[in-house]
Amino acid sequence: MTLTPVRTRRSSEELIRAEETTLAHNYHPLPVVVARAEGVWVEDVEGRRYLDMLAGYSALNFGHRHPGLIAAAHRQLDEVTLTSRAFHNDRLAGFAEGLAELTGLEMTLPMNTGAEAVESAIKVARKWAYEVKGVAPDRATIVVADGNFHGRTTTIVSFSTDESARAGFGPFTPGFRVVPYNDLAAIENAIDETTAAVLIEPIQGEAGVLIPDDGYLAGVRELTLKAGCLFIADEIQSGLGRTGTTLAVDHESVVPDMLLLGKALGGGIVPVSAVVARRDVLGVLRPGEHGSTFGGNPLSAAVGSAVVDLLATGEFQRRAADLGEVLREGLTGLTGKGVVGFRARGLWAGVDVDPAVGTGREISERLMAEGILVKDTHGSTIRLAPPLTITREELESALASLEKVLG
Ligand SMILES: *Cc1c(COP(=O)(O)O)cnc(C)c1O
Repeated sequence: MTLTPVRTRRSSEELIRAEETTLAHNYHPLPVVVARAEGVWVEDVEGRRYLDMLAGYSALNFGHRHPGLIAAAHRQLDEVTLTSRAFHNDRLAGFAEGLAELTGLEMTLPMNTGAEAVESAIKVARKWAYEVKGVAPDRATIVVADGNFHGRTTTIVSFSTDESARAGFGPFTPGFRVVPYNDLAAIENAIDETTAAVLIEPIQGEAGVLIPDDGYLAGVRELTLKAGCLFIADEIQSGLGRTGTTLAVDHESVVPDMLLLGKALGGGIVPVSAVVARRDVLGVLRPGEHGSTFGGNPLSAAVGSAVVDLLATGEFQRRAADLGEVLREGLTGLTGKGVVGFRARGLWAGVDVDPAVGTGREISERLMAEGILVKDTHGSTIRLAPPLTITREELESALASLEKVLG
């Protein structure tokens, strides 16, 4: 008789060492090994608890293991999880209908990761340019912004302006024009008869939560309408309640031609992304021209539908708006006391720490010692983006910890 070996629990230290020898070093994680999570809290292997103020880069807008989302996933696990798009499945229509209702756009192209949604939008925009706008073959251009983050594929890093994201990965995909962010005149100058689309983040998350001036998004809408090109809003991080409205473009009552969703759309359970667009735009795709083995699978569609249902209540948008005021007040109070500046909208803030106090990484490590998990972006900027389920008390305690580590 063979005995099944008892699976002994390995310590955080052991697991980190094992990761260092067996995993690609494309990340530099904080030294915390999460083993369990619920709501805004995560617990490490040794049972230490941390308040998650990063929320999976906004993939966890509804918190870890939101009961309604977990229930939807469980139900679907017992029915059917994967069909491929070779067949229909009974969850996909409802998911697309929900997205249409939520966004005011008509059609959905379901994908999995954010980068795939961006890639898909680029393909659709090019095809639209050739078939609808009449751009000469292989001449279509897309205008993008400096400091952008749209993902990690070879085409997407082709128009990144972050050297560490690009260096060593060429040759790059042509057809992109990079202009300064928050500069309407630069977009206007970059647009010509070859322009298929303007692709921007309504708020640049990875760049440090950069919020454009009021009127910028409406201006992009106006310029693209006038020029007869598409406005693609990458709301993969800014969307789905984070900024106090369903979408960040809602702050200027703007409807783009193509909307890119991801991260929170998967409820923190499965990767789910989507291109949501008008019918005359997504309509350029015909059978065989684009696809994804996993895109639109019934498990993803069930979880995505449950996410759409949560957002349809408006509760999370309201929480983000109300608690966003608490966050803003807290950060205003810390300005001049270790904080040199911040940008915030809803429950989302980029906080520039006085470099004399520490780098973003050092502040993140000090916060971790206080039981708060955050992530630095560039230099001395940290990003705060807690689950939208956070309570006022929890948010205030995180701000108190920030004050302590800056002091
Ligand atoms: C995270 C992100 C992406 C890429 O999403 P992945 O799921 O990591 O591929 C694209 N755009 C924005 C704005 C993002 O924040």
